[in-house]
Amino acid sequence: MTLIAIEDLTKDYRLGPHTIHALRGVSVTIARGEFVAVMGPSGSGKSTLMNLLGCLDTPTAGRYVLDGADVAGFSPDELARIRNRKIGFVFQTFNLLSRTSALENVELPLVYAGLAARARRARARERLAAVGLADRESHHASQLSGGQQQRVAIARALVNDPSVILADEPTGNLDTQTSIEILALLQELNRAGMTIVLVTHEPDIATYASRVLTFRDGRLLRDEPVASPRDAAEARASGEAEVVA
Ligand code: ADP
Repeated sequence: MTLIAIEDLTKDYRLGPHTIHALRGVSVTIARGEFVAVMGPSGSGKSTLMNLLGCLDTPTAGRYVLDGADVAGFSPDELARIRNRKIGFVFQTFNLLSRTSALENVELPLVYAGLAARARRARARERLAAVGLADRESHHASQLSGGQQQRVAIARALVNDPSVILADEPTGNLDTQTSIEILALLQELNRAGMTIVLVTHEPDIATYASRVLTFRDGRLLRDEPVASPRDAAEARASGEAEVVA
């Protein structure tokens, strides 16, 4: 069942007299339930692709069908609507409101979605419990460790029941052990059916996904399945995490 289909997706940026070809006609299909890592050196087009997949920007040319909706031609309002409903974002820097409780951070997308306060609170509480932070709900984000903050951010990403989680270097600010814990959480969500697209520049991290897309100069260079993805929960238990950068 296809969730994401892009066809000949192209993005040019204009900088004065120059045109920068950030994406040069990329075609990929991602099925529901996949865990895909996006790799490539700096400047290869990963962020541009994530911005397009996340409905934060529109392509210069090409098609993007997300969960059956042909979004490439959507207006900014339509993009915002589909983004709020279908996409959960997780960032390297967590992007939480620091002097706001974990629970309120998770609730925030539901405020935008117009849900009543009581329902918001119940749903946010449930998602925080699902990421193992039931006992931290009234802590301010700034009182939590990096790994805990990323868990809150993942709970926030899940609170709208999105179709896909887009994670941009979600372990980039975390130590090895904590990175493995976050990967274990993402794998657990993926096993429960969540589609995940994760950008990383670390080959080790990509081995926890089941498919790797490698970009170079705005083109999709390789699209390969991972023969046997590593199990983060196992790696954590065996201490194997130490060898991961
Ligand atoms: P990556 O995420 O792989 O580092 P990007 O998607 O950020 O790559 O960048 C791809 C290319 O597009 C780079 O040459 C970058 O400088 C350029 N680029 C990205 N965003 C913009 C922008 N807003 N304006 C102009 N050029 C941009």
